[in-house]
Amino acid sequence: MAELEIKDLHVTREGKEILKGVNLKTGPGEVHAIMGPNGSGKSTLSYTLLAHPKYEVTQGDILLDGESILELTADERAKKGLFLGFQYPTEVSGVGFSHFLRTSYNALSKAMKGEEREVFITVREFQNYLKENINSVGLREDFLSRYLNEGFSGGEKKRAEVLQMAVLKPKISILDEPDSGLDIDAVQSVAKAISQVSDKDSTTIVITHYARILNFLDKLDHVHVFADGKILKSGDASLAQELEKRGYDWVLEEAKQ
Ligand code: ADP
Ligand code: MG
Repeated sequence: MAELEIKDLHVTREGKEILKGVNLKTGPGEVHAIMGPNGSGKSTLSYTLLAHPKYEVTQGDILLDGESILELTADERAKKGLFLGFQYPTEVSGVGFSHFLRTSYNALSKAMKGEEREVFITVREFQNYLKENINSVGLREDFLSRYLNEGFSGGEKKRAEVLQMAVLKPKISILDEPDSGLDIDAVQSVAKAISQVSDKDSTTIVITHYARILNFLDKLDHVHVFADGKILKSGDASLAQELEKRGYDWVLEEAKQ
């Protein structure tokens, strides 16, 4: 199962209300896009889903497979299968990329009771598993021996986030602007990589400002317009094209009526 439900979610940061009643429901195998203007609260939503301590939920609930996860820490939510690909991935000097992936993978495998997942004891076994995945995201193997994100270009950081998603196989992946800072060719290949690692049991939520990356996804089930701290309108993939042509203002106008 992988069912995420966000109910009337209100969130403040340093006393200022940023999310003002978000409602969203996703099911297994679905690909969702959340599109909206800058500053509307999209990253706030993704941070809140992963329990960032600066964001306070003042109202509403977040349910995973029917159970509230509000009281869980970021680590506990990750172990339940939630994954966030950051808009601005952090460089972590001293932590090897491959070591980071193996530690995370094994921690998740141990936590997912009742699910058959191998725990990789040796570095060599894990390297073989990684090699199956790294080509699909368009990174070379030598990246694995570098420190996490250190000195990676914008595009390489985004690919590294998708590699984490491919390796960890979360139930629900939220990718915050996986296209930001990428040139057009990189946008296409990152979209292809996202499609490759999305499967029938998992849910992928792509947050973006532009429809461009969505055009390259193999599948897109629902598009949500996010503005002023909530989802104002939802539709199918054609809504993304309409937003690309007409911008966001008309949705705000429509919502006022
Ligand atoms: P989006 O991802 O849609 O561009 P954000 O969630 O990043 O929007 O930001 C939503 C609102 O929260 C904006 O008004 C922004 O200025 C404010 N905000 C974001 N980060 C901070 C911060 N570190 N301190 C104070 N306000 C912030
Ligand atoms: Mg953002």
